[in-house]
Amino acid sequence: MMSETEVGKRAEKTPLSPAWDPWDPWYTRSRKGRHELTGVEFTVTQLCNLRCEHCAVGEALVKEEGIPLPADQLIRRLEEVENLQTLSITGGEPVLSPRIVKETIRPLLRYARDRGVYTQLNSNLTLPLSRYEDWVADVDVLHISYNYRDEADFHRIAFEKYGREVTPKAADKLFRQMVENAKALSDAGVFVSAETLLSPFTSPHIDRIHRDVAGMGCRRHEVHPLYPSDFARGMELIDLETFRETVIRLLDWRDPGVWILFGTLPFYPCSEEEADRDLWLRLHREENVTVRHDPDGRNRLNVHAFTGDVIVTDFGDVPPLGNIYSDRLEEVFNRWLKHPLARRHHCYCPEARCTGPNILVADAYYSGVDFQKRKALVSLDGDPD
Ligand code: SF4
Repeated sequence: MMSETEVGKRAEKTPLSPAWDPWDPWYTRSRKGRHELTGVEFTVTQLCNLRCEHCAVGEALVKEEGIPLPADQLIRRLEEVENLQTLSITGGEPVLSPRIVKETIRPLLRYARDRGVYTQLNSNLTLPLSRYEDWVADVDVLHISYNYRDEADFHRIAFEKYGREVTPKAADKLFRQMVENAKALSDAGVFVSAETLLSPFTSPHIDRIHRDVAGMGCRRHEVHPLYPSDFARGMELIDLETFRETVIRLLDWRDPGVWILFGTLPFYPCSEEEADRDLWLRLHREENVTVRHDPDGRNRLNVHAFTGDVIVTDFGDVPPLGNIYSDRLEEVFNRWLKHPLARRHHCYCPEARCTGPNILVADAYYSGVDFQKRKALVSLDGDPD
């Protein structure tokens, strides 16, 4: 296991904190007057050892896959992104194939480290700890999913779509490995960020889930809506009232030492509901709580490391916007900004610190609403940025 000193040797960057989240597109939008490409996410594999019921890329998962594009080719396109600030790595389970770790992930992380770019890797953290130790010092955020109370929940949720029977014993082992890994890596100084998707199942248990996230030593708890995409497409969503009550309960019961990040929140300062507007204000005034605006298509693109396709998000139905064989990433991003979907959802109310809704969330909760015709009804002017 690496020491805290080794973790501390990462490139000198402003530490991540509620005051500085480089994935949040708010900063570039508010300071430069337009959205700008500052982040690239790579889908480095479509292999995974789980098949979670809520997986938003579940239908793309495969049992075997070939060889991704050479890391050099991916890095050449990163070199062209003038203001690159974040690099994200996702799957599938990125760590499952040692070859992907060696030939794709490590070169990308090293490149990011040398350039002073912040990095995130999404993992289910169920593999032996030794599979993470060699490279995790180059990761700024190790992102995991956490939607369970116990082994039994994990067994049901993680193997829901597996296609064959998985014994409770086998699932228990993976669950315990994940929890132990999260604790060990957190103890070693790794920034572990656990994400919970609010669903009819997790919503009633959010306080307990949060307590367990804190107990694993995670520095951050991310709370998002369930994205009705791929496997999750047929899952029931909680209604907005339940969502709001769950957020309030979490705020009332949270561990104040854990940063809570609400991502792609389905509440906006232009809401006709006073309770939603009050919640927006409360979220921006709580210590150690942030609302992150949707990076996908606002400051980030996703690149598929096998096909080279560039898409606006790794889940959702927007077809590829380009390919790294032929297109510079900034060109693709500028093309996306002119897309009707971007124009529809990229509204902006600076006085309330809002850059508009996520596409999937807007479709799920605000079908037919024209956000371009709305305006914030509350202001955060006078609050710290
Ligand atoms: S930016 Fe869009 S979603 Fe946010 S308050 Fe303004 S109109 Fe509403």
